[in-house]
Amino acid sequence: MADAQGVLVVGEVADGNLTGLTTELLGAGRRLVEKAGGKVGCLLVGAAVSGVANDAIAYGADVVYVAEDGAFEPYAAEAWLPAAQEAAAKASPAAVLLGQTSIGRDLAPRLAFRLGVGVSMDTVAIEYDSKLHFTRAAYGGNARAQLAPKSLPAVATVKGKSQDPLEPDSGRGGTVEHIAARPAADQARVKVLGQEKAKVEGVRLEDADVVVTGGRGLGGPEGFQALEELAAVLGGAVGASRAACDLGWYPPSAQVGLTGVTVSPTLYVAVAVSGASQHMAGMSGSKNIVAINKDPEANMVKAARFAVVADFKQVLPSLIEELRKLRA
Ligand SMILES: Cc1cc2nc3c(=O)[nH]c(=O)nc-3n(C[C@H](O)[C@H](O)[C@H](O)COP(=O)(O)OP(=O)(O)OC[C@H]3O[C@@H](n4cnc5c(N)ncnc54)[C@H](O)[C@@H]3O)c2cc1C
Repeated sequence: MADAQGVLVVGEVADGNLTGLTTELLGAGRRLVEKAGGKVGCLLVGAAVSGVANDAIAYGADVVYVAEDGAFEPYAAEAWLPAAQEAAAKASPAAVLLGQTSIGRDLAPRLAFRLGVGVSMDTVAIEYDSKLHFTRAAYGGNARAQLAPKSLPAVATVKGKSQDPLEPDSGRGGTVEHIAARPAADQARVKVLGQEKAKVEGVRLEDADVVVTGGRGLGGPEGFQALEELAAVLGGAVGASRAACDLGWYPPSAQVGLTGVTVSPTLYVAVAVSGASQHMAGMSGSKNIVAINKDPEANMVKAARFAVVADFKQVLPSLIEELRKLRA
């Protein structure tokens, strides 16, 4: 694309609000344009999305492209693609960022194909040093690949919690432009038959400031009861390693890691988790890691700020009791 500059974020709205990941992408976009120049655009697609245009501006957008129509919902790639293409044509961005969500991972490759460019999926870092670079996991999480796009706009899906949002500033200025593209309902080749929302009790894992994660070393699903107690007393959420999820001890939606959720809490307590590279890929951004593991050589123990080398069964009851006393 000639004279490509700036960043276009394909935003998502849930329950009438910008998703957390959209605010993270806007933050990433802002940091990119500070170095590389241009504007941050944000495409919003769906019914009543203009209601959150000002939020997008507060989180860093200069221009919000609004494709407002109930016919865009529920999401269908065929419906969103023309709107995304129109926004890309208007913005002429150097990069198009989408969330690594069910929408982003479906839309990004199709949009890249239509634009005749490549796509970086599962992106965890975005850098600019006279050229754009995207970083993503490779070889099953054992290595990191750095991709330098050959043609612009560079399209990328970005993992949640890998970028920091800006503090929202309601005083920021920005403009709103309308997108004309509308879905041609009768031409739809895919019909969405239903959608089911995952039930979440308490704090969402991705948003939790404290995450307590259990691994295969717990020895069975009953081990997670103590973890739930610990998470409750710390006001956090419970995660699980893939091994624990694969064994059916905890729901797959709680899996932390390369093929699960990415978290970056202030406190990450890993109980009987070895710290395989694929697990670390989803939590290495945690500010403080505490490991409880009976193996002093476990990778998680080495990565931890504090480690208790012991059997979790001996540690957790007294830890929970002491924390309860402190909280009281
Ligand atoms: C492509 C690919 C993607 C993957 N994606 C993910 C992912 O997203 N997330 C993920 O977690 N894994 C993922 N994995 C799997 C990963 O490689 C590991 O197999 C997995 O993380 C191991 O889980 P674990 O640490 O619970 O189990 P283990 O490696 O078996 O570790 C158990 C730990 O518990 C400790 N322990 C045992 N008993 C006790 C006790 N009584 N008290 C205290 N400590 C004890 C042991 O010392 C050990 O360190 C992926 C693998 C591949 C190939």
